[in-house]
Amino acid sequence: KKIQIAIDGPAGAGKSTIAKIVAENLGFTYIDTGAMYRAVTYKAMLENIDLSDAKSLEKLVLNTSIILKPSPSGQLVFVDGEDVSQLIRSNEVTANVSQVAAHSNIREILVAKQQQLAISGGVVMDGRDIATHVLKDAELKIFMSASVEERARRRFIDNEKRGIPSTIEKLQEEIAKRDQLDSEREASPLIQAEDAIYLDTTHLTIEEAANEILALARQ
Ligand code: C5P
Repeated sequence: KKIQIAIDGPAGAGKSTIAKIVAENLGFTYIDTGAMYRAVTYKAMLENIDLSDAKSLEKLVLNTSIILKPSPSGQLVFVDGEDVSQLIRSNEVTANVSQVAAHSNIREILVAKQQQLAISGGVVMDGRDIATHVLKDAELKIFMSASVEERARRRFIDNEKRGIPSTIEKLQEEIAKRDQLDSEREASPLIQAEDAIYLDTTHLTIEEAANEILALARQ
């Protein structure tokens, strides 16, 4: 059955890695919603837009084409036709994305796009507000977390692979700050949905976590 699977949780909990595997196994489409907020942040920074200016950001979003394209190597992100999949992962974008994502007008526009992408089901969507706002009727909702130390450690390894310079301490600080901004904002804060299943991945391998979700999806 082509169900909708929502995976939410804080930064570095393993959402994207695990969501991708789950999607592959089920023959579903993986949709990384964080990439949309990153894409907007990337373009706004490129155009020197004041990230606290909701109106200017809205104008920018309405005049930008953001396309998510599934590919064998993962989801690709195109902004106005340019492949920005790597560029949106920079430290600069990461440091500013939560400020952009806090604007309710920007969220409304992106949430509508996300809902469009999921309309026919057969999707695994990850983000912060998928179960609580974007796909409220999703058949399976997972809230994935892990200790902040473990999440920083994973990001460090991830960054090394991508060639992004970082230290574990700096990452732990950055992750804690982003979690705080994402959880304390007024518009769709990061919170576990009442009907979501909590999955702590601190002591799980990627495979174990993916298998837990696959078992739930096949029930
Ligand atoms: O998942 P990722 O770490 O790429 O998300 C980047 C940022 O985008 C988050 O820290 C959050 O501020 C924002 N975001 C959001 N809602 C989503 C997905 C991401 O607010 N559904």
